[in-house]
Amino acid sequence: MSENKKIEKIIAIKGMNDILPSDAPLWELFENTAQSVFKSYGFQQIRTPIVEQTALFARGLGAVTDVVEKEMYSFEDSMNGDKLTLRPENTAGVVRAAIEHNLTYEGPKRLWYTGPMFRHEKPQRGRYRQFYQMGAEALGFAGPDIDAELIMMCQRLWDDLGLNNVRLELNSIGDAVERNNHRADLIAYFEQHIDTLDAEAQRRLHSNPLRILDTKNPAMQALVEGAPKLLDYLGEESLKHFEGVQAILRHNSIPFTINTRLVRGLDYYNRTVFEWVSDELGAQGTICAGGRYDTLITMFGGKPTPSCGFAMGIERILDLMKSAGDIQVPNQCDVYLVHQGEAAQMQSFVLGERMRDAGLDVVLHCASITGVGSFKSQMKRADASGAAYAVIVGDDEIAQGNAIVKALRSDDAENNQAAVPFESVVDYLVDQITGNDDHDHENCTHLHH
Ligand code: ATP
Ligand code: MG
Repeated sequence: MSENKKIEKIIAIKGMNDILPSDAPLWELFENTAQSVFKSYGFQQIRTPIVEQTALFARGLGAVTDVVEKEMYSFEDSMNGDKLTLRPENTAGVVRAAIEHNLTYEGPKRLWYTGPMFRHEKPQRGRYRQFYQMGAEALGFAGPDIDAELIMMCQRLWDDLGLNNVRLELNSIGDAVERNNHRADLIAYFEQHIDTLDAEAQRRLHSNPLRILDTKNPAMQALVEGAPKLLDYLGEESLKHFEGVQAILRHNSIPFTINTRLVRGLDYYNRTVFEWVSDELGAQGTICAGGRYDTLITMFGGKPTPSCGFAMGIERILDLMKSAGDIQVPNQCDVYLVHQGEAAQMQSFVLGERMRDAGLDVVLHCASITGVGSFKSQMKRADASGAAYAVIVGDDEIAQGNAIVKALRSDDAENNQAAVPFESVVDYLVDQITGNDDHDHENCTHLHH
């Protein structure tokens, strides 16, 4: 067999991205911040399976929605013929789980989730086939208070992340009866202007005319502007609810604009709908979207459980965080352990474990295909690792019972290196890192060079 026979590389699926270590700190920063914001409002985490029965989404999201019509990864389980789908969103899964485990038995429930979602869309900036959402669902709450709380929770997250260029768009799409009355007038209006409708709009005219209002086609903007507004069809109860949401937002100085064309793409919404939008992301400007879904749970056979939630697109938010700049990425580790010789390697393993016992993050130099390498090449690794300190052990150090501790990020080249007895290395490092100078470390020798 030929030695250099070309091996065909297997690459990732289009629109499904690797999240590389260089981006991991940003993901962690976002996820930790969001998690602590959710927790500060009493939301609890729920994790549901990535694969669900296709019927869950087909029924839950609405058969004539974009997602169900053309974006779902659906397949048949070849083992048993089950019809399955990779979740395109997580509300349906959370609702299924809530019903299955009777989660609202003792009262309303505040939940949050995060994880990958799958939609077969045309990949482009901010639009992928596997993407990540973090979201919240408040189950069993009927009043406008929870809608406002969810929105304020988002606002707090943007503030904590330093994102000050996102705006809130708000609308109410009423209840089924109100939407039906509006729908009839909307169809009649569009029928009068049938020539202005593009193919997509004509296709939707009788199946989902509300979605026509969402069109991005510039040629249809004037037509859509003049269309009957759903807001004008709301009855007293819906209006009161909508005004309730607005009153709380105003009282808490949360700015918003009412966008009468905001309708959302999934069938389960009613009354409050909202989107957080940025102008810095091009066409994919919506970073978070949500609304009320009072009838979804009964549609799945559960008891009446009025609910409200939102989902955030994590990739789009990270994009914004990057452009906001100035993100402090923490050091990857505190200490890089450099060693030369068998006894020094053994000592380094022991030191490394003791450092980790004390809570330090430690990288121990290990052999590559060319071996462990010289001190010089190991020090290069130590520098590149982002560690704050290198701890160096060689034959001389073994003979003297000391390790060299070298500060890698210090400006003070004179004083950045000390010989520290093995038994004091951990205390010494912890004191250096925490800035504690209670100990005088009299047995350590500062080395000048
Ligand atoms: P869009 O109008 O951009 O297609 P959507 O209405 O389909 O969005 P939702 O189902 O409301 O989106 O999902 C909530 C959020 O998830 C969106 O606002 C967006 O930030 C993000 N999102 C949706 N689809 C994708 C995708 N394919 N890739 C990356 N993020 C996405
Ligand atoms: Mg979409």
